[in-house]
Amino acid sequence: MLRFKVVEEASNRKAVPVALPSERPEEYYGKYVFNRNKMFEYLPRDTYEALINAIDNKEPLSREVADSVAEGMKRWAIDNGARHYTHWFQPLTETTAEKHDAFIEHDGKGGVVETFSGKLLVQQEPDASSFPNGGIRNTFEARGYSAWDISSPAFIMDNTLCIPTIFISYTGESLDYKTPLLRALTAVDKAGTAVARYFDPKVKHVISNLGWEQEYFLVDEALYNARPDLAMTGRTLMGHESAKNQQLEDHYFGAIPSRVEAFMLDLEIECHKLGIPAKTRHNEVAPNQFELAPIFEETNLANDHNMLLMSVMGEVARRHNFRVLLHEKPFAGINGSGKHNNWSLGTDTGVLLFAPGKTPKDNLQFITFVANVMAAVHRHNALLKASIMSATNGHRLGANEAPPAIISIFTGSHLAEILEKIEKSDKDELIAMAGKEELHLGVSQIPEILMDSTDRNRTSPFAFTGNRFEFRAVGSSANCGSAMIALNAAMAEQLAEFKEKVDVRLEKGEDLHHALLAEIKALLQKSSAIHFDGNGYSDEWKEEAARRGLDCETNVPRIFDAYLRPETIEMFGKTGVMTPVELAARNEVKWEMYTKKIQIEARVLGDLAINHIVPVATRYLSILLDNMVKIRTLFPGNKGIELSAQDSATVEKIMHHTATIREEVDKMVDARKAANRIENEREKAIAYSETVAPCLDRVRYHIDKLELMVDNEMWPLPKYRELLFIR
Ligand code: ADP
Ligand code: MG
Repeated sequence: MLRFKVVEEASNRKAVPVALPSERPEEYYGKYVFNRNKMFEYLPRDTYEALINAIDNKEPLSREVADSVAEGMKRWAIDNGARHYTHWFQPLTETTAEKHDAFIEHDGKGGVVETFSGKLLVQQEPDASSFPNGGIRNTFEARGYSAWDISSPAFIMDNTLCIPTIFISYTGESLDYKTPLLRALTAVDKAGTAVARYFDPKVKHVISNLGWEQEYFLVDEALYNARPDLAMTGRTLMGHESAKNQQLEDHYFGAIPSRVEAFMLDLEIECHKLGIPAKTRHNEVAPNQFELAPIFEETNLANDHNMLLMSVMGEVARRHNFRVLLHEKPFAGINGSGKHNNWSLGTDTGVLLFAPGKTPKDNLQFITFVANVMAAVHRHNALLKASIMSATNGHRLGANEAPPAIISIFTGSHLAEILEKIEKSDKDELIAMAGKEELHLGVSQIPEILMDSTDRNRTSPFAFTGNRFEFRAVGSSANCGSAMIALNAAMAEQLAEFKEKVDVRLEKGEDLHHALLAEIKALLQKSSAIHFDGNGYSDEWKEEAARRGLDCETNVPRIFDAYLRPETIEMFGKTGVMTPVELAARNEVKWEMYTKKIQIEARVLGDLAINHIVPVATRYLSILLDNMVKIRTLFPGNKGIELSAQDSATVEKIMHHTATIREEVDKMVDARKAANRIENEREKAIAYSETVAPCLDRVRYHIDKLELMVDNEMWPLPKYRELLFIR
């Protein structure tokens, strides 16, 4: 039987040996990246200087410089085995896109030369009409532009020079994640710098940092291929819980199986060659679940690196006969996967703005930025939830192992105490506080206290962790850009407003420290509802959060509505991050994607139920019936009925489950048909979530019951206990 064959194949598999480079990581790190060293080596001196200046000061590049960069980049790429180049971008599909072109051009003598021009480097027109665009691009304007993002270095993957680019429509609207992300980073730089200058006038830029922690599952490829649901939807649509899963808590930080360790080593080497600073690896809570985290980087670069990692992972996994599952909830009953986004702001002078410092002034700066984070997250808590939401992440949130579906901030008791003190102080107390050298907050001791005691509240979706905030609700398959756009833009709006208010006070002649403390106090008072250090999984919190006016919506398509609220439109408008047209279009894409994902799941499950499971159950049923007939023939009368009673009970149950599966699949098909007739994308997505998605659970319930009854030898699909334990 196929199932036993693939299980055997998977369990006999040995670790694939990894060819360790002879050099140390220091030597091969960034080998395939056109970083500053390579630029220096391959570009003429004046080109190099012009390019570095453009990158550092966000200035445009002239055509001549672009041509010269293209020439040097091409030489470097060819020296490193590249034959093609591509504009690498991040459309709204949550993967990356690329179209490869060879460097060759006719040489006029019947041969070819390998060339690459500034024009091709800077801008291209991919025929992009089949990327999601939410109606922005009408068919007569099917063109989209990709344009070089000089702030993220080009790299070589699979013998192709990849140039990170933004992707916009003919009319200038963003069709990707990178464009609004760059705009949000510019906005937070501008607003953040203005505030940071209260403390240090030398600050020129504020930089947003991101350190993501990527969780994932590995499954042996033979088993994966034998599960059409995994292969087509990324998750198991059926499967009874394994008797043993994560209840012994023996996987987390346990020994990594040798096959997996080989994969991780190989992956890290690839990452390092691509300049992804992969640093930490460990087992996660669920069996077969793992995590990789890099050293944090500037947000745009970190995000490119995460997108790159997700594709590299897939490739490396295949070399090791694994498949990577990035789905947020591939298996029912055990933990799902997220991607914690560790986020901070820092200055070009090297100060981390969410980190307590050594002096009272540093600490006032720290409190200033923290209070603004609380205000921004409070104001846009619904939007932040929308920014991480998707059909797949919807399974994870609100479950009892993942961030709750309500955004709140965990500060830890020490920070809470300090914030509360400011919040409760009256005017005189604030003046006294501002005048005192120690700022009378106990703030001079903050660093020591916070650094080692930011107790980890794992139930919080947004937690302060000593020198950063950890946005934990992001899904494992997501483009972090979505969360980072919302968060940085909201922060930019908030900081700009804060600055305006403080300036009004300064104009009135108030002392700077007092003006800051007074405005911090106002922010804390206004946003205190967002602060919650308790158990985010509890039912009491859900009620309490609703009373506090936090967004408690749990229906995925409705959660997306937050993007179209007046305060969201205003915020994205003021910060120049997204226009109302862009927001509307992107929501169309979100709803459409939601519908399509559920639609695919419903089709796959319908097929599996009717063509795989029901026939097998029926075969087993007929064996039982045969048996009953034989028993009753041999033992006529009551004796036979008695002896076949157990079979008879099983027969009834199996008949009940198969009949119900048939009924539920029919209902699911009808629900789909009805939903498909709806034109409006939002309404259609809601119909899918309310009428189709629940059918998936009901069909599954009956299949999982059958799995426990039907002869193990007949069951067609690998079971959880087989999928989940790599030996
Ligand atoms: P955890 O204990 O939360 O699992 P990890 O060490 O796995 O922590 O990951 C923490 C992540 O946070 C790493 O990517 C790390 O580089 C990143 N990080 C640390 N400090 C900062 C900071 N100030 N800003 C952004 N990211 C940070
Ligand atoms: Mg973490």
